[in-house]
Amino acid sequence: MTAAIMASIQLVRHEDYRAPDYEIVATALEFWLDADTTEVLAELRLRCRLPEPPEYLIFQGESLDLLELRLDGQVVGADRYDLLDEGLRLHHPPQAFTLNSRVRVHPATNTQLSGLYAADGVLLTQCEAEGFRRITYYLDRPDCLAPFTVTLHADREHYPMLLANGNLEATGTDGQGGHWARWHDPFPKPSYLFALVAGRFVVERDHFTTQSGRSVALEVYVAERYRDACQRALDSLKRAMAWDERVYGREYDLERYMIVATDSFNMGAMENKGLNIFNTKYVLASPETATDDDYLHVESVIAHEYFHNWTGNRVTLRDWFQLSLKEGLTVFRDQEFSADQNSRGVQRIADVRRLRAAQFPEDAGPLAHPVRPDAYAEINNFYTATVYEKGAEIVRMIHTTLGPERFRAGMDAYFSRFDGQAVTIEDFLSALEAGSGCDLQAFMRWYAQAGTPRVEAKWQQDLETGSLSLELSQRTPATPGQADKTTLPIPVRVALLDRAGRRQPLRVGNDDLGTETVLMLTQPQQDWTFTGLHEPCVPSLFRGFSAPIILERSDAVLAEPFLARHDDDPFSRWENFQALAIRELLGYIAEPTRALPSGDLREAVAAVTSQWPEDPAFCAELLTLPTEDYLGEQMEIIQVDAIHAARESLRRALAMVFGDTFMAWYQGLAGTYQLDGLSMGRRRLRQVMLSYLLVNDRLRWEAIALARLQYAEADNMSERLAAYTLLVQDIHHDSEDLLMDFYQTWRHHPLVLDRWFSTQLGREEPATLHRAANLLVHPDFDWRVPNRVRSVLGAFAANPTVFHAADGSGYRFFGEQIRHLDGINPQTAARLATVLSRWPRLDAQRRGHMQGVIAELARKPALSRDLAEVLSRCQD
Ligand code: ZN
Repeated sequence: MTAAIMASIQLVRHEDYRAPDYEIVATALEFWLDADTTEVLAELRLRCRLPEPPEYLIFQGESLDLLELRLDGQVVGADRYDLLDEGLRLHHPPQAFTLNSRVRVHPATNTQLSGLYAADGVLLTQCEAEGFRRITYYLDRPDCLAPFTVTLHADREHYPMLLANGNLEATGTDGQGGHWARWHDPFPKPSYLFALVAGRFVVERDHFTTQSGRSVALEVYVAERYRDACQRALDSLKRAMAWDERVYGREYDLERYMIVATDSFNMGAMENKGLNIFNTKYVLASPETATDDDYLHVESVIAHEYFHNWTGNRVTLRDWFQLSLKEGLTVFRDQEFSADQNSRGVQRIADVRRLRAAQFPEDAGPLAHPVRPDAYAEINNFYTATVYEKGAEIVRMIHTTLGPERFRAGMDAYFSRFDGQAVTIEDFLSALEAGSGCDLQAFMRWYAQAGTPRVEAKWQQDLETGSLSLELSQRTPATPGQADKTTLPIPVRVALLDRAGRRQPLRVGNDDLGTETVLMLTQPQQDWTFTGLHEPCVPSLFRGFSAPIILERSDAVLAEPFLARHDDDPFSRWENFQALAIRELLGYIAEPTRALPSGDLREAVAAVTSQWPEDPAFCAELLTLPTEDYLGEQMEIIQVDAIHAARESLRRALAMVFGDTFMAWYQGLAGTYQLDGLSMGRRRLRQVMLSYLLVNDRLRWEAIALARLQYAEADNMSERLAAYTLLVQDIHHDSEDLLMDFYQTWRHHPLVLDRWFSTQLGREEPATLHRAANLLVHPDFDWRVPNRVRSVLGAFAANPTVFHAADGSGYRFFGEQIRHLDGINPQTAARLATVLSRWPRLDAQRRGHMQGVIAELARKPALSRDLAEVLSRCQD
């Protein structure tokens, strides 16, 4: 059956890349916008890049009704072109010509949300990766750049605002209530960065003065009901603009920067030139509706899309295999921006958590692929944690290797060499090399090789001679289609700590390396000898998580408790603290009669709780146990039930031992609502405290009362939702009244209502399956709105007890919904379906059930290419 699905899937291969035969000198588009039927007139000025024109030229096109085709003004006869599945083939194209096409598209029935679609009375576009071909016939590929002129006509009543990329050139009226606007984007761009928006909005405005003194108009367009929730987005945007000038010397280039928010969006946000389109989730933030995490996400996504203006737009991609060139690099940039805005240590912990939650499992399963894949059937399936998050880690390793100054010099070279061009990852590395003067070729292997490397560390100290030798070795396990792995360059940030946790001077041979340095592990195995160390030391390795690897240290049992208490690198301290919890939990799973919590973890927690939390955000990270998923990652076969039971037992045990402190902190951390980092940290830690108190038998009733009070009286969504979530997900507590209250209060606010859907699906009890089924027929459920679909199906699949029910009922239910969704929104269906790749690590019974669901889905008639590819790769 794999063969059967695969046979119907055409793969695009990196090695087959060919430069386009034609360039588009200029693109002019004219739209007569209407939700049911929109007419698009395209005028493309084409010029052949070869000495002789080819036999034919294919313009991509999908779901277009062709009305008229003209070549240099003449109607093109039916013998001169063919309509194919993938577009229009023009025979005997001249060396240079103008092509005019007139097509019809149907926004209201476009439920895929790719191309031009209608949502909430608004018309808008999504073109990355290949949505532009659903708007007009085009050379829809990222290495085909053109300046765009776009004229929009629409009814003034329904669509009073008409937006497209670039600068507004002219506006006017069309008879009978119509109007038009013409936009020109002088920066040549590929079609995936095209956007238009038509509709009725309120606009929140601000401006930014660039380093060279130009004033840029900043505009956020939202539906009337979101009027007061744009300030965070505007503030974040201004800080991002200033940061990119300060850190990278990059200035914004158009007269205005527009952001439009929509409730109906497949992804987070889109960096269309000068006209970003955002999922409302990453724009709106008001204290009453958004949590602290939402505030942080808005800040980072706003920055991410802004940073794309240089890394992605001004310098763009040659082809989709280079996707990480813009995404990995831009994620690295937004992570660094957030680290500078907030706490660097806590930011790094959050980034690594995310990498481990999404990317490590991907890299260890059937969907593993290199950061630069070799082939794809549907490029939408490659907007993955590997391309984004692991891609960002590669850029970070290069940054760590070069240091900030040489990295900046390399980036300067990248921008000056390639501005206005469509380039490759090789181009990126060669510019970094030229600017920094360092050889970076070995990093190419990180882009080409899938799988998470394991690094093993051994060390030995001789107190007599004062020498400490450190031995590191690396290996990467095989992944699908890549049996043999090569050696990677791995930067290892190290320090040596004495018994009191003080950093010792690092001396290797005659080199004095300060008290922290980066060693480069470039061989399968390497040794370093540090001298002058007459006091016992412990190496602190991979500080700041200097490489995306799994560390195996031979001295773990001794080093982890020490580092969990004394390491001065926040990431490393947290990492070792987590390691204690993991060890404790795995020990308990192996031997469930063990007493919890045992010595090391208990002492580490005691050390944290012995003093008032000066850095509450960091304390909250320390005291949050690893997730069930992450624990599963530590096992050969994931013991779903045992993991859940062990984690609950440990939470209970910690709650019992430290209950009084937790209660005192819960009370003492209360404060007025503010949005600075310290206040956010206090709220976060209070939530962790509350979660423990609810499982403390002695304090439980008091904790429930406190949680209910917090829910009722909070003046902000962060505290309200925290209490609400804990109560609703407490399966021993009857929260129906809270569910009703929350629904009544927030039913008209889609983003908050999403939480109403998702929170109840976090209840870890069998009845949640029925709850999910009921929610799918709830009047507020809508299959066409991806946020809402994810709030049910995504939340369902994230509930280990219910999704992984031993009888397979969770998988079957999920599979049926994916089948239905595939007919509506294949992109979202395929993305959700990736959880079906987890079967190889499940027990035999669950594995059989999950494979059965995959096989069943694969037999679906009219399977989308998106879902077909995911399923076929899941089966390998
Ligand atoms: Zn991006």
